Amino acid sequence: MFSVEKWKNGEKWTNWAGNIIAYPSEMHLPCSIEEVVNVVKHARDRKKTIRVTGAAHSFSAVAMPEHIALSLHNMRGLISIDAENQEATLWGGTYLYEIGPLLAKHGFGLMNMGDIQEQSIAGAVSTGTHGTGVTLGSLSSAVTRWCFVDGNGTYHEHIRGTDDLSEALHVSLGMLGVLVKVTLKVLPLYSLHYIGTRDTLTNGLATFAQDIRQHRHVEWFYFPGSETIQIKRMNAMAPVYQSEWRKYVENIKLQMVENGAFFAISELCKWKPALSSAMSKLAAANVVEAEKIGISYEIYPSPRSVKFQESEYAISLTQFEACMEEIHAMFKKGHLHVHFPLECRTTAGEAGYLSPTQGQESAFIAFHMYKGMSEEPYFTWVHNLMQKYHGRPHWGKQSHLTAQQVHALYPNIDKFLTVRAQYDPDKVFFTRYLEQLFIL
Ligand SMILES: Cc1cc2nc3c(=O)[nH]c(=O)nc-3n(C[C@H](O)[C@H](O)[C@H](O)COP(=O)(O)OP(=O)(O)OC[C@H]3O[C@@H](n4cnc5c(N)ncnc54)[C@H](O)[C@@H]3O)c2cc1C
Repeated sequence: MFSVEKWKNGEKWTNWAGNIIAYPSEMHLPCSIEEVVNVVKHARDRKKTIRVTGAAHSFSAVAMPEHIALSLHNMRGLISIDAENQEATLWGGTYLYEIGPLLAKHGFGLMNMGDIQEQSIAGAVSTGTHGTGVTLGSLSSAVTRWCFVDGNGTYHEHIRGTDDLSEALHVSLGMLGVLVKVTLKVLPLYSLHYIGTRDTLTNGLATFAQDIRQHRHVEWFYFPGSETIQIKRMNAMAPVYQSEWRKYVENIKLQMVENGAFFAISELCKWKPALSSAMSKLAAANVVEAEKIGISYEIYPSPRSVKFQESEYAISLTQFEACMEEIHAMFKKGHLHVHFPLECRTTAGEAGYLSPTQGQESAFIAFHMYKGMSEEPYFTWVHNLMQKYHGRPHWGKQSHLTAQQVHALYPNIDKFLTVRAQYDPDKVFFTRYLEQLFIL
């Protein structure tokens, strides 16, 4: 991937997966809010659009710059901790892998995290990046204050309330401006006790509803066409650090099994896609059962060096079992050549005009395709299936959504667009991709 530190005007810009490429005419790395204001005014006066690049880890074109790319790579770090209210204020460019150790020094940790920690905090909260846990919302739901520079170049600090601006900022895809600082609700430092097991799909489905309430985090990996699933369960406990030796061993295991062996299987499937179903079953049969304990930020993320494309949808939690039965029935027919496991997680319902989980506890189902293998017709089938379940896509992942579908799935979309127009009347943050996605 290109490096934000070395970027030059007119050079190639690409996301992590490599499926989105652009050649922005200008790339800016501001070091202060004043410099951000100047870039926004410069863009507005020249009628150019800006997209902020976080860590470019979105699979969709949400971060794709048309004219001007801006990165907050030079605006990172912890600004302050309010221990009494359990809140931390961070610069928007701070990467998640920096946040764990920064908060731990003050005795705090993030409420939840997803699979990886390469994203920037502003990028993560702009797309509703989530982990798993039916009592927990996305990273966006932890935000209590947003500090942003709008499309007029005006700096705002907004404390979360029940007002339209809060609902619009909750998940905004950077359409209201540049998020320069965020304040997050944090928890006293905690560890996680992780247990990874193998089970049958039949057992998993029969116990899913109770299981997700008995553990703080439950995550499934379903191997296409296989009767075996991997279940990862995690629960919070008093802080215990992993020893350096244990960290080393865990890392080797993850690199060799989850990445090394899986890379070899994936290359085989790329060479002969018809082997995908057999390889999926082989991977399922070799799921490693494991147990580990460590500080939360050491346990949530895993290294992901096998590259892929991804589509992910939130559906009502009550529909999860039925949806999985349908997915399994389809894979058993053997028409789709997919070996990459589906990842199933849960979240609490939350606020936000653009939140995929608004109003309901949700199950997220993520569908992957190895980089270099065609994601079609798989993703088209996924999209059609998800329409049946009124699935709302993760904005940072691939989908086939049209503006008509967005308007049908998001009842408050007009309110969002009204707030957007108020804070960005000259459409500095509204690229063609976003216009096509939101304007009928
Ligand atoms: C390997 C991998 C694993 C992943 N795992 C998960 C997971 O477990 N859970 C999950 O929910 N998602 C996951 N994702 C998706 C990822 O978390 C989101 O797409 C996230 O938005 C990426 O953050 P980023 O910093 O790279 O932002 P980018 O992709 O660079 O940007 C995302 C959006 O935020 C905007 N933005 C970024 N910074 C700012 C700012 N300062 N101000 C205003 N707007 C801004 C961008 O313009 C864009 O619209 C994963 C992605 C990958 C590649």
